[in-house]
Amino acid sequence: MIQKIGVVGAGQMGNGIAHVCAMNGFEVRLLDANPDSLAKALATIAGNMDRQIKKGAMTQEAKDAALARISTGTDFAIFSDSDLVIEAATENEAVKREIFKKLCPHLKKAALIASNTSSISITRLGASTDRAAQFMGMHFMNPVPVMQLVELIRGIATSNETYEAVKELTAKLGKISATAEDFPAFIVNRILLPMINEAVYTLYEGVGSVESIDTAMKLGTNHPMGPLELADFIGLDTCLAVMHVLYDGLSDSKYRPCPLLVKYVEAGWLGRKTKRGFYDYSGPKPVPTR
Ligand code: NAD
Repeated sequence: MIQKIGVVGAGQMGNGIAHVCAMNGFEVRLLDANPDSLAKALATIAGNMDRQIKKGAMTQEAKDAALARISTGTDFAIFSDSDLVIEAATENEAVKREIFKKLCPHLKKAALIASNTSSISITRLGASTDRAAQFMGMHFMNPVPVMQLVELIRGIATSNETYEAVKELTAKLGKISATAEDFPAFIVNRILLPMINEAVYTLYEGVGSVESIDTAMKLGTNHPMGPLELADFIGLDTCLAVMHVLYDGLSDSKYRPCPLLVKYVEAGWLGRKTKRGFYDYSGPKPVPTR
């Protein structure tokens, strides 16, 4: 049974995963290569829990207890008693492989590993570990405390026991799972990211401004966020990485990343997390940049 959960990567997804696990009674160990990210993650979790308290979704006592269940560190030895480690580091296969290389020697034999990757082959990531049968994809949505879905992805070598244990955990976290086969970007991002990339092409070709594209899609298709606003929310580096995985993995030119998306990432304009993407977030209200 999964009781102690490790999380690698304390960025926007890692802090949300730690939040939801701790809130549901699990002991959490959170690791990041960058100690500043760990301090920032704890502050974000506390702030997001305060928001839940205001909404009546959590009590102050529950918040204090949940925060006390989270410990942080930069050394993989913190995972020696974890039953499951969820990897939520940067969307880069080399980075993830390096993490698994450092992680595996510290794990119990029975420990499971899940990756929160948005797009990278679970089979290939699993094969880079010492436990492909105990490895699978557990794709949370952003923001994790708010979004209901977790996409579950079985690699070709993932055992049924691993799949069932992670599925049961997903339900205990109060989430609903949908199962996807291990093909590039799975279900959600296979459909969502080409739409976002097309929105960037629409901007690049001058069909519409940032504001008109987002307004058209919000009001015209009843989406809660426009595609460019959503791209900034996801992170433009992550969006580009997913498009590369689709383009390389499916060898179809319809997935070519828009050159404007590439340029924004090259400029370091990664969206909300860097305060600039298709919108400028430095003031009180997001301002369209084109
Ligand atoms: P992020 O940039 O906010 O955070 C990534 C974190 O990983 C950073 O804190 C960074 O310091 C850390 N990191 C990088 N290399 C590391 C290493 N070697 N060891 C330990 N920590 C390391 O990114 P994010 O948006 O949280 O995305 C993380 C993962 O979640 C990616 O695989 C992404 O595809 C996936 N994901 C993202 C979203 C989204 O909407 N952003 C949604 C679902 C899944």
